[in-house]
This record gives sequence, C-alpha cells and structure tokens, in this order.
Amino acid sequence: MGLKELTQSRIILYTTIFLATCYNYAFFVNVLKVYPPQINNIGFLISLYFVLIAFNGLLFSLISNFYSIKFTLITIIIISSLTNYFMNNYGIIIDKEMIANTIQTDAKESLDLLTFSLVLNLITLGLIPSYFIYRIKIVKQSIKKELLQRSKYIAIFIVMIVVLLALFGRHYTSFFRENKPLRYNINPTYWIYSTGAYIGHFLKTENSLFYPIGEDAKIVPQSERKKMIVFVVGESARADHFSLNGYKKNTSSPLDNYEIISFSNFYSCGTSTSYSVPCMFSSFGRSQYSNAKGKQFGNLLDVLANTGEVAILWRDNNSNSKGQADRVAYQDYKTSKTNPICESNGECRDEGMLVGLDQFIASNQDKNILIVLHQMGNHGPAYYKRYPKEFEKFKPVCNTNQIENCSVDEIKNTYDNALLYTNYFLSKTIDFLKNYSSTYDTAMFYSSDHGESLGENGIYLHAMPYAIAPKEQIHIGTLAWFSESFSEKINTKIDTKKDYSHDNIFHTMLGLFNVQTNVYNKNLDIFIKE
Ligand SMILES: [Zn+2]
Repeated sequence: MGLKELTQSRIILYTTIFLATCYNYAFFVNVLKVYPPQINNIGFLISLYFVLIAFNGLLFSLISNFYSIKFTLITIIIISSLTNYFMNNYGIIIDKEMIANTIQTDAKESLDLLTFSLVLNLITLGLIPSYFIYRIKIVKQSIKKELLQRSKYIAIFIVMIVVLLALFGRHYTSFFRENKPLRYNINPTYWIYSTGAYIGHFLKTENSLFYPIGEDAKIVPQSERKKMIVFVVGESARADHFSLNGYKKNTSSPLDNYEIISFSNFYSCGTSTSYSVPCMFSSFGRSQYSNAKGKQFGNLLDVLANTGEVAILWRDNNSNSKGQADRVAYQDYKTSKTNPICESNGECRDEGMLVGLDQFIASNQDKNILIVLHQMGNHGPAYYKRYPKEFEKFKPVCNTNQIENCSVDEIKNTYDNALLYTNYFLSKTIDFLKNYSSTYDTAMFYSSDHGESLGENGIYLHAMPYAIAPKEQIHIGTLAWFSESFSEKINTKIDTKKDYSHDNIFHTMLGLFNVQTNVYNKNLDIFIKE
C-alpha cells in the first residue's frame, strides 16, 4: 500500500489530532464530571480539545526533526496507548512516582498486568497507527523551506492557545487553579511531563552526597535478654478489610488466638511501594520526606547498625528494598533458588521467608536481632495468584488479572483471600518468634506500605497522587505482637483507635530496641513507657 508523501508538519498535525481524539477518554470523562455541559461553558469544553491539539502540536514541532520524527511519534503513540488503557481501566495516573514504580517493576509483576484487552488496545491504538507512521514517506525539503513551514505551524499553534485561553479565561483559571487533578489525565502531555520530572529528580539524587544520621546511637540494655524483632513490611493491605478492625468477613481468623494489637487508624506515607517503603524507614515524617532525601540520608537500619549491637537482615519477596537494605544483609526470596515454597508458575510464598532464619540468629548470638520481611502480600491486580488454593475461603473469586471483567464482589473476595493468607503468614511469623521467647524479648510489627482501591468510584489498585488519593489507598493495616517479657518493658496499653502513621515507625523501632540517639523523638514512639 502506497502512502502519500507528507511534510513533517502535516504528520505532526495529524498525529496530535489523532492523540487528542482517541487517547483522552479518561480526561474528557473527568472534565465533564467537573464541568457538566451548560450553555455558558460549552465553548470552553470544545476549546479544550483544540488547546490539546495545539499544545501537543507545538511540543512535537519543537522536538522533532527529519531523522527523529518517526521514532519520536511512534514512541509517543505506543506509550500513550498503554497509559490510555491504564487510565481508562484502572483509574491510574502516570505521575513521577508511577514512572519510578514502572522502572522498578520486575518482569513477573509486569506479566501480572498483561491481559487480552491490554494487547488488543496495544495493537489497535499502538501498533497499527505506528505502522502507518512508519510507512509514510516524509517530504525531504531544504532546511530553509522546512524551517519556514515549521515556524508557520508553531505560530498557528501559539495563536490558537493564546486566543482560546483568552476567550475562555474564567474557565481556564478554574481549570488550572482549582481543578489541578484534571490535568493528570491529559494524554500524552502528562506522562511526558512526569518522565521529565522523574529524570530531573533522578539526576539530582544520583549526584548527591550521602549523609549519615544517628552516628551517636547506642543501646541502653534493659535486661540480660537480647531483643528479636521481625518487622513485616506489607503490600497493599487496607485496614478496613482486616476483621481485627471490624471487617464483616473473617480475614484475620488465623490470628484469633494471638494477642494482637491492631491499629485501626494507621495511615501510610505514600500510595506506592517505591515511595512508602523508603519513607517508613526514614527519620523524616511525611511532610518533610522526599525520595531524594530517602536516598541521601541514612535510615532506621543505619541507625540501628550504628549501635554495633543489632544484627540486621532484609529478606525480600516483593521487588527489592528500595535502597533501604543497601548497607545491611539482603536476601532475595522471589526465586526458588532461595525460597523453598514456590509454585510451579514461579510465584514464591511469603511463608518461605521464614525458612532458614534460625541460622542467621545462631550466627549472631551476641547481638539483638532485626529481621525485615518484605511481603508480596496483596500485590494486584492478580490477587488470585497471591495465596495457595486452600486459602480460597471467600467465593466466587476473580481468577484473572483482568479485574475490570470481574464484579466488585469477586474482586473483593479474591483480595480478601490474599489478606487471609497474609494473616496466616503473620501467625506463622509469631509462632517462629515464640520458639525464641524463652531466651529473647520477641516482637512482630507489621505495617502495609499503602492501601488499595477495589472499585470504589471506578478506581482500582493504588499510586494516586497523595493529595487526591482516596482513603482506601492510605488507610492501612498495621499490627503488633509482643512476647510477655517484651510487653513488660514497654507500654502496650495504648489507644489503638488513635491516628498513627508511618511517621511513627522510625521512632517506635528505636524505642523498642531502647536506642539513645539525637534523631530519636519520643513523642512519636508508640509504645513509650512514661
Ligand atoms: Zn506496594
């Protein structure tokens, strides 16, 4: 099939019209929710479509030349077809954090997202338009002619933007000032902006120095006994789905015979693993924290290591430690090479992380022990993969990663089965600690990294920008268990309904090991004995 010869400016114009028309469903749906069409705003609503075209046309005109234009446009088309799919089906927003998540995701996690409709979407909105762009013959004209024509188009785009913004100024002021979240859905503009922001942020942190903290840290022994704490970093576990917090389905039944402290109003630092996990270990509270600071400054594990009296081990069945275990012992448990409990499909169970811990403890007998277990937990959307068959207690389930094809009840059943397995895993963790409770003060502390949306208002999964994140994504499951001898040294009679957050973890952990250091703030220590 022979395609017409087109000038570069024409290819850019057609592509931007195509992008504005076919890849912005989520954006226009959200705009219409905020601005229901009325006589006085219909002009503004229509103008948005043209501003979108003009803005992208301007952007592409500035960044592409004869040699790069096809590559640039095809890359944008393919990525935009994917962002369009995730925005439409999961209500996901492609911000800086999401780019970080995507880059840090491993192949197995990506496979969980692969569905028939994703492939169909990639073919129709990604590959087919790309093929057309690939086949187009570009008119090769003299540089002078090309520049002249390009300037003409750039001028037209600028005039379009200026005129439309001026014409509907009042509406655009409200659009830019009061309704910031609307722009998160603009495709491809917002993901391009986010990629730039991510790269800028990455360059800034890569070149910076490392600042140790809490170098004065020392442990004040409270008795002859050493302490042994297992800190379980959970995944996507929302508080309101634990029966310990009053959920109607008995998801916490494996913990029924244990004395568990369950915090019913505990909030996460972020809405994604790559933000929340480093924040949990950071001395900065949520208001001061950034991922740049997370990389630059020492963390909780560093401060404990500074005492010289805590042996630290991080085992990971999730993704990685997000830089938190860079300076302590780290073991990858996502593979059957280390994890003895893996399914034939490659899914390794959190329970496998408990096997072989005795050796680590035996070889560190003169020290206190902190073991961090980073769980796979309730990692979505393939919740059905996250538990062995015998945990399929709530039915019917959603046996697919295409959760948009399941009913909300099916999704919740599947999610709850995975949560039941997490509660079982926590009970096994406590059983493990009980074996040591005659020689150590033992404790288990569990906190999820963030929550999860399960279809509320059409939103699924997590990673919404914090400012507009629904409660389901930040209200997280957090539990604690202490051996008798440990309970005597701290205050466990606390108000579990009080608001707590990841901000408390750094100081609470230091308090549990009775560490003295200038970075400890007793006001944030949950179990402090006054
Ligand atoms: Zn997570």
